[in-house]
Parts: sequence; structure tokens; C-alpha cells
Amino acid sequence: MTLKVYNYLSRELERFRPSENDVVSLYVCGPTVHDHAHLGHARTYVSMDVVVRYLQLRGYRVRHARGFIDVGRILTTGEDRLVRAAYREGMTPTELAETCTRGFEDDMDALRVLRPTISPRATGHIPFAIVWIKDLVDRGHAYEVEGNVYFSVDSFPSYGKLGRRMVGAPVVGSARAVPGSKRNAADFPLWRRAELSRTLAWPSPWGDGYPDWHVACPVMAHKSLGDTFDIHGGGIEGVHAHGDCELAISEAHNGVPPASYWLLVGALRVDGAKMSKSHGNHLTIKDALRLYSPEALRCYVLSSHYRNSLEYSRDALRAAQRGVDLLYQTARGLRRAMHSSLPLAGTSTAALSNVTSLEGYRADFRDAMDDDFDTPRALGVVFALVKEVNRVLAGGGNVSVGTLSAMDKLLHDLAGDVLAVLPDSTMRSPTGELLEDLVDYLLALRDDCNDRRDRERADAIYRRLTDLGVAVDDGPAETTWHLKAR
Ligand SMILES: [Zn+2]
Repeated sequence: MTLKVYNYLSRELERFRPSENDVVSLYVCGPTVHDHAHLGHARTYVSMDVVVRYLQLRGYRVRHARGFIDVGRILTTGEDRLVRAAYREGMTPTELAETCTRGFEDDMDALRVLRPTISPRATGHIPFAIVWIKDLVDRGHAYEVEGNVYFSVDSFPSYGKLGRRMVGAPVVGSARAVPGSKRNAADFPLWRRAELSRTLAWPSPWGDGYPDWHVACPVMAHKSLGDTFDIHGGGIEGVHAHGDCELAISEAHNGVPPASYWLLVGALRVDGAKMSKSHGNHLTIKDALRLYSPEALRCYVLSSHYRNSLEYSRDALRAAQRGVDLLYQTARGLRRAMHSSLPLAGTSTAALSNVTSLEGYRADFRDAMDDDFDTPRALGVVFALVKEVNRVLAGGGNVSVGTLSAMDKLLHDLAGDVLAVLPDSTMRSPTGELLEDLVDYLLALRDDCNDRRDRERADAIYRRLTDLGVAVDDGPAETTWHLKAR
């Protein structure tokens, strides 16, 4: 089985071959920190997280860098969105950038997105950005106009090869910043002159200023991963404005294309428009986590192929929550059955054939993921397995602990380790199992109180559990619970 990925640069499905045998190097464009992250960010980073997790399952070590843009960023109006937001919040830009950087990391942790192995920040790379820009000026790829430095697209004939744009087409966001000062309308900024009052500014050969995000990303990628790396990931929305600029800067500076494969994640759309703060249609990750569990948000994101755009829908989010709840109940039912089954039954022929047939699910899952990380298909395999497990559990008694353990391992390998849609408390950790047993015990006590008509004590147990973050749901057949997102 070979892993195939859709390389946005060639627009083709290609066999994945990393440059080192067992290490994959990956750069993902990080956020511009000036606000809370929203569901659109969740879409990009959860999708890339599953790429990382699946590469790990395939035995690769992933050297993963994700850079923060914390030097500010200019809007089409010419205003800096970080400086503007800091003023509104009564903070300095540095304070707000730090607050948002930590907030973003908290959101990613809550969504169970694995931390990158390297987390560079643009503010930590200013001297390197200046060296790069100076080199580009010296070699005729860039020029200065009154303290601003622009990349000259005419000096780099293959400019636009990622987004497949014609040079000379108008570029959103750069033309209005300094009107009439560029040689070509498509030239984009590398270094920006700072206004006198700006605190986020550094001295340079062109006066006080700051690097543009187009140059900050390739400098951070280079410092973290070297001249070339395997995969460049990020959201597709930025490609036409940003990916082409990044690619041109890196290739002009280093003489080689930076990445072998470009994996771009489709946008999250609300009624056909991109979800973003500026469109006023965004739901922050923190707010979404008050409504849905982290696993439900992941399941919703992964129910669409990463390359497609994903439509925001409450119904789809609720359906994802129901799916994850079913997965959770199944995993817990399996654990209960394992504790009460007889170990000796594991040697029968029937038990062995049960275990062997499970391998079909693993193979189907890998087939789906090998096909350019087809997570909707992979989720389909997980829910087919859930159905099979429930069929076996409903059959009662005669199931060996060997079969049950094999099912448990498979469910945790696929839904837990790779997709991370299986809630944490059923993961293989002693504290997870202890927590489950304790909550089950308290709920049994509550049942007991109810049976003895001690409503006051039963309600007190319910309230205490709720306060501690345990959501208790009294269904018609049985009482279930899950941990609420913090
Ligand atoms: Zn970038």
C-alpha cells in the first residue's frame, strides 16, 4: 500500500516519498495572532493534525513547524489589524499578540491537535528576515521605495505557479497600502515602513519597520526545516495572496523550491461565504466548545474531505455529536464486557476467526487514508466497526476476551490515535479508567438515592458532577455521561 497525496502545485495525485526515509518535514502556516481563533481555523488545523497523526501511524517521525505571525498584518484598508485590535482592547500590540498566541494554543490543545515540534514566531526571526530581504535586493529580486521593500514579480518568471495566476493581475491587499509606489501592481511587500507611533518596529537598512507575513513564513520555515522540506500545509484561502509569495521568496532566495508537496485545506463556509471575523459570521472555537465536545467538532471537520470546502451547519454539528456519543458508548460497553468476560474462552476457533476478520477494518481504514487522507471514508469504516462491535455485544455471553480486546485496540488505534474522535476518558490511560469507574460509582449512588426517594442527595450528586464538568444525560433506557469541554 502506498500513500498518495494530491499535490496542489502539480494539481495531481502523487505517490508520497519523503526526502528522508523515516522522517517527514512539514511546515504549516500558522495564524496571524490578533483575535480568538474560529471554526475556520479549527478546520485547517484539525485536518492537518490528522495528516500528522496518520503519517505517525505509518511509522514516520514528523518534524512539524507551525509559525505564528505576531508582527501585525495590514488590512486592505491600510490599517494593521493587530494594532487596531490592541487599541480597542486597551493593550499594547505585544500584549495582545501574546494573549492570542496562548489562546490559540489552548484552543488547539482543547481540540486535541498535537503540538508542532517547532513553534517559531515571526518576532523571533527579524534579523533573518532582514538578511533575506537584503539578499533579495542585492540580487535584483526586490527594491526599496521610501522605506518599503517590494518583491519584483518580473524578476521571477515562474511567479504565480501555485495559484496559477498571470503576472500583472491585481493583487488584493498590497496595492492600496502605498499607492503608486510599485513598479508592477503585482509586486508585494517584504518590509514595511513603520509609522512613528508604531511600537512593533525594528531598525533595518531601510529605516524602522517590520517584515510582511509573506516573508515571515518562508524565513521561519527555513530556520526550522532547512532549504527544502516535504510538505507545505495551510488553508487554501491564503494561497493566491500568500502561498505564491512564499514560494517565490524561498525559491529566489535559496535557489530551490521550498516544498515537494503542497497540501491545502478548503475553507469553512457560512451560506457560501468564507467564515471570518471581517465577514461577521464567525463562531469562535471557545464558543463552539461550549456547545459541542472537542471530538464532535473534529468529527464534523473530518466528515468532509480536507480539500473540499465545508459548509457550516448546526445539523451537521449535532449529527457529529450524536456519532461521537455512540462511539463513546460503544467503547465503554466494550470495556465493561472485557472486564466481565472469561479469559479462557480466548482459544476457540470462532474467537480467532473473529479477530482475523477485524483486520479487514484496519485495511479498509488504511486504504481510505492512503487515498489522499480520505477521512469521510475512514470515518465510515470506524462507524461500520462500531456497528459490528454493538452486534457482538448485543449477542451476549459467548465472546472471548481476546476478541473484545482486539476490537478495543482497533477502535482506539483508528478512532482514538489517528482521528482522535474517541473521547479521552476511554483512551488507554490508568487515570481515564479510574475516572470512569469513579463517575460510574457516583451515578450508581445517585440511582440508589433515587430508589430510596432521597431526592435531595441524588440532586446534590448530580449538581456536583455538573460543576466538575461531567454532563449527565438521563436517557429512557440508561443514564450516560461525558466530560464537557473546559
Ligand atoms: Zn505562510
